[in-house]
Order: sequence, then C-alpha cells, then structure tokens
Amino acid sequence: MSLSISELENYFISIGEKKFKAIQVFEWLYVHKEKNINNFTNLKKEVRDKLASDFNLEFISIKRKEEGQLVKKYLFELNDNNYVEAVLMEHDYGLSVCVSSQVGCNMGCKFCESGRLKKVRNLETFEMVQQIILIEEDIGKKIQSVVVMGIGEPFDNYDNVINFVKIINHAKGLSIGARHITISTCGLVPKIEEFGNLPLQVNLALSLHASNDEVRNKIMPVNKAYNISQVMSAIKNYINKTNRRVTIEYVMLNMVNDSINNALELAHILKGMNVYVNLIPYNETNNLEFKKSERIQEFKDALLKCGINVTVRREFGGNISAACGQLRSKEV
Ligand code: SAH
Repeated sequence: MSLSISELENYFISIGEKKFKAIQVFEWLYVHKEKNINNFTNLKKEVRDKLASDFNLEFISIKRKEEGQLVKKYLFELNDNNYVEAVLMEHDYGLSVCVSSQVGCNMGCKFCESGRLKKVRNLETFEMVQQIILIEEDIGKKIQSVVVMGIGEPFDNYDNVINFVKIINHAKGLSIGARHITISTCGLVPKIEEFGNLPLQVNLALSLHASNDEVRNKIMPVNKAYNISQVMSAIKNYINKTNRRVTIEYVMLNMVNDSINNALELAHILKGMNVYVNLIPYNETNNLEFKKSERIQEFKDALLKCGINVTVRREFGGNISAACGQLRSKEV
C-alpha cells in the first residue's frame, strides 16, 4: 500500500510478469479490501507466493476514538508504537477525513501542538492510506474528501505524500476525486514549485497566518527560511502554471495577527490573486498561551470590503481535542 500503480507495474515487469497485474492487486487491496495476499485468487499461486515473499501487507490499528457532534477523532497506533491521529468530519457535502503525514513535526509553529512534539519520523505512504481505509471500515461508509492537515508538514515528506495522493485518487484505489483532495503546507517554497509541475488536479492550501514578516517570524519559524514575499511569489507561479485557486489559511490569534490593520495588509498581499482566505478560529490548547481571536467577524468584513473572498472555517471537535496534535499529545 506504499506503491503507486506505476511502481507496482514496474515491480511486475521486473519479475517478468505482465504489468496489468498491478491493477488486479489494486482491486484486491482497495476495492475488495482483501488483507490476505493468498486470497488474490485471480493471480496464479506462484505470483501470490512471490508477492507474499516480497511484500509485507501490514496494518496500523485504531488505538482510541473520541466522538463529538458530526466529528470523530481517531488515534492510530503504528507498528513501531508511535501514534498519529486523523479526524472524520461530516459536512453537508459528504464525509471528509483530515490525515496526518508525519509523527510529530519540525516546523515549530508556536501556536500548534504538533510543533511541540518534534518530528520522530515521516509516515510511510501505506500509513497514510490506511488512516482512510480503517476509518471507512469503522463507519461502513465511503470518504468523499481528504485534507492533509493533521500532524506533520506534508511537503517535508513530499514523495510519500504524493504517492498517497496517487493511490487514493486512482479509480481502482480509493477513488477519491483529485479536486476533493487538499494538501496544506506552511510554505516550503521549493516543494510548492515542484507541486505545481505535477499532472494532478489536487488543491493546495497555504498556512500564511500573518500579514507581515515581523508577526510571521514570531509565530512561524519557517518564515526565516522563506519569507512572505518568497512564499507568495511561489504561490503566484503555482497559480499561473496550474490555473488553480489556492486557499490561504489564516489562524485567528487574539491580539497577535487579528487587527484591522492586519486585515488591510493581508488584502494588499492577496489583491488580484486567484485565492480565497479561510479564517481559522484558533482551537485553544492547555499547553500553549495563545487565545482565540475575538475579532473574527470584523476581520472578515474588512477583507470582504477590500474585495477578498473569505470564509470562516466551521469549528469541529474543540471538545474532543480535534485540533492539530492534541489527541496524540495526551497519549505521549
Ligand atoms: N503543516 C501543514 C499542515 C498541518 S496543520 C501546515 O502548516 O499547513 C493544518 C492547519 O492547522 C495549519 O494551518 C495550522 O497552522 C493549523 N493549526 C495548528 N494548530 C491549530 C490550532 N490549535 N487551532 C487552529 N488551527 C491550528
């Protein structure tokens, strides 16, 4: 479950088999959800034996669940006893899952629980794919959309995340439409550029969270590597190349980045760009000193007046520790 269809095709070619067997394996894994290679009955016994000796079809497991209204949070145990979490959300347009991409995170955003827990390792592709498979199995329903906004910086685990996207998007994989998949990054410029060259219609979201470098430097250390003007020029190139609208995420932190002046600065940065702003009400955590902004509506109105598309993210799961990294941090 870490291999994309083309990697699996190359594997079959390398062992002297026809490449269409890759599709058959995808069907067993993702359509029939068969967990035992020996039951892939349309493959010859010798091919099944070869597969079973070359691959280990291992699964992560659900360690804990917490349920709220329209939201369910899963804590997964990995086979090396690390933990990551995913969140299932019920929207009026369907079921969506927020998946983790790393164990911990090295980006160090000051307001984020995941950054408090340093990166232990990248997730393997199969560990991301199985977050969705196990949730679908748990609820007996299909997931319609996926956001890579859980623990971790997806562009710091780029290759595995892209393979994950290819597998969940494939018609014989989990068949989740590319337009229903969103990857959120804190702004790793070289990877934004690389992502723009991919022939996939996947959405990109940027965690901007500040309207000037002074504030962004204070809350997001990544800004010292790639500042606002560098990251916005990468986003402009991405939009020019792909013609796709980008989401600008802006977490509303009380008295930190939520003044009307900040809104005007933000509007100035985004003027004329094919973007929309998603204001995120901050999910307060016991461990960090930040508070949720009291000026979300005013901030939104100021952006609207400047002609910027803006929505406020619906709040899910505050009472079940569903904000970034909070369930795992209770466990470790
Ligand atoms: N590393 C990626 C994706 C993971 S975080 C990124 O930075 O985009 C997903 C989003 O949740 C980011 O915008 C992040 O800044 C935000 N976030 C983190 N902690 C939060 C909290 N306590 N409340 C609200 N949003 C938070």
